[in-house]
Amino acid sequence: MKLILRSSFTVLIALGTLCAQWAQAASPSPDQLQQVVDAAYARFKDVTDGKNADYIPILATVPSDMFGVVIATKDGKIYSAGELDYVFSIQSVSKPFTASLIMHEQGAKTLREKIGVEPTGLPFNSKLALELYPERSVNPLVNAGAIAAVSLVEASSEEERWRKVLGNISDYAGRPLNVLEEVYNSEYESAWSNRGIANLLYNYGRLYSDPEEALRVYTKQCSIGINTVDLAMMGATLANSGVNPKTGKRLLDAEDVPELLAIMATAGFYDESGEWMYSAGLPAKTGVGGGIVAVVPGKFAIATFSPPLNEAGNSVRGMKAIRYIAGELGVGLYGPNHEE
Ligand code: GLU
Repeated sequence: MKLILRSSFTVLIALGTLCAQWAQAASPSPDQLQQVVDAAYARFKDVTDGKNADYIPILATVPSDMFGVVIATKDGKIYSAGELDYVFSIQSVSKPFTASLIMHEQGAKTLREKIGVEPTGLPFNSKLALELYPERSVNPLVNAGAIAAVSLVEASSEEERWRKVLGNISDYAGRPLNVLEEVYNSEYESAWSNRGIANLLYNYGRLYSDPEEALRVYTKQCSIGINTVDLAMMGATLANSGVNPKTGKRLLDAEDVPELLAIMATAGFYDESGEWMYSAGLPAKTGVGGGIVAVVPGKFAIATFSPPLNEAGNSVRGMKAIRYIAGELGVGLYGPNHEE
């Protein structure tokens, strides 16, 4: 009898400890959030691995030592360290947000049917993926799918298409954003690979506007200037079920948020998406400008800015900082991830 009582007691204590750990993971306190942001910044600020993107010539000139880390919660509170004001080009971090615009205006089904949701396991600008997959555009987070996504935005002119894309990304950030003209010119002048992708998609009937128009709007979208706080607020909108915490504006139906996060989880890091989910366990999106945003659904977003990239085109310090924060707070979707 005594033995039974003692083992029940042990089980209760173990359950209590687990619940306490879960509650802590579920709702880190403001102090914990600021501490973990400060710790991530201090831990990785001196890392110099990686190299700025240079296939878009102007990106090679962005100071490589800049490093910012921000958490924005679903109620709009900001916890930050490092570089917060520098305005960098959003690049591919824009892609899930234009996918969201398609879902919001035309339904999740349209995105799935007209673009696709398969991860490619191939680099972001792969032409091979376009030939291999019957959907051609494959998913909205690789270049092919993202160029197809801007072409799918309902618009009667290029100007209207662009205004809708810019307006939506500004709404996600919670303030009006603009194009960095120098980045746009540099990228459009060297956009031969993306031009090839747009033309191939058109050839296969998987582009829904004139190819050069889609290329211009896509390139402008990638050249939108943001800072690390904007990026965190964009992610916090997804953490807040599609409503911007700052403005209260709904940008995506709550029921479509899980599908968008699922695409980010499977394709947000291109051919490194498996590695990323294995080690961080969070849906996220990277850009060759050095930004990353990761979403802890229903809670908060973590954004980082650091220009040097690894071979797959993902920010080295940003990945380390987000993995560290996710690990310290135990917020990985499948439970705490232990391997870096
Ligand atoms: N604008 C870039 C391109 O099309 C985006 C790539 C990225 O950020 O991964 O090449």
